[in-house]
Amino acid sequence: MSEPTDTILQVENLKVHFPVTQGIVIKKEVGRVRAVDGVSFTLKRGETLGLVGESGCGKSTTGLAILRMLPVTEGRILFEDEDIAPMEGRQLRAMRRRMQMVYQDPYGSLNPRMTVDDIVSEPLEVHGLGGTKAERREKVSALLELVGLRRDMGSRYPHEFSGGQRQRIGIARALAVEPALVICDEPVSALDVSIQAQVVNLFEELQERLGLSYLFIAHDLAVVRQISDRIAVMYLGRIVEIATRDALYREPLHPYTQALLGAIPIPDPEIEKARDFQPIVGEVPSAMRPPEGCRFHPRCPHAMAKCKVELPPLVEMADGRAVACHLHPG
Ligand code: SF4
Repeated sequence: MSEPTDTILQVENLKVHFPVTQGIVIKKEVGRVRAVDGVSFTLKRGETLGLVGESGCGKSTTGLAILRMLPVTEGRILFEDEDIAPMEGRQLRAMRRRMQMVYQDPYGSLNPRMTVDDIVSEPLEVHGLGGTKAERREKVSALLELVGLRRDMGSRYPHEFSGGQRQRIGIARALAVEPALVICDEPVSALDVSIQAQVVNLFEELQERLGLSYLFIAHDLAVVRQISDRIAVMYLGRIVEIATRDALYREPLHPYTQALLGAIPIPDPEIEKARDFQPIVGEVPSAMRPPEGCRFHPRCPHAMAKCKVELPPLVEMADGRAVACHLHPG
């Protein structure tokens, strides 16, 4: 992992709410899904921030909102010191070139009727880059080589590749326009465990060579462990803990982080026996009607009376971590 230098992305109080309507002719708003509800974090240049939480916690919505692929209800998204939340039109398109996404599903995200050449060069054409057809071909060959595929594989179709290779094609496509930030939305979740490590290694190598910054979204703490410098844990639309990777795994403070860690199988039976965090029980409540007070209180083994009425703020601690829990007032 490269040494972070300055801030590339600063997200401040980001909210993404979706109206819930009723009625066929006259639509009436009957509620709001608060998918992302006041998320703040920073990402340094060359850094990887893991964003972790169960399905439905708002982590993918956060990634899509940062890319402005979903409407932002409130908040600021400072990318390379410019607030991109209110941007539109040409300004937004120019910014989008600098931020790319790698999707979870390497099967569904590649058009089966397009050759790999066309898939990888498409973003170059969209952004008016890449020069002549021959120059674009050469660029695609170089990108394929960069992600560990053969230069001559560009004339093939997605179905001729394995899952891991397809994800490499997805990465090549994201890198074609030379982004500074890549949002990786569960990029290895659909792959076999044996392939996952290879793709994570590739992400690390590319970061080292190209100085990329990653927001690496995953639903469990096992996947992000290798690649993340820092990790933010999300629950029902809010960040509940953010810390350096080592601090988080060594001493998770939020009961939800502890429960997520409790869910990771540990191959060493001695360590497995010694750990005292238990896997989480129950389901994530609806983001339309999140519980009052601490949103985690119906599932928290440490919940107190205060937790049911008072939402704990994300409080910065001495060692640079931040936790939103009444057990850790700062
Ligand atoms: Fe549990 Fe209370 Fe902390 Fe929420 S604030 S995580 S309910 S102890």
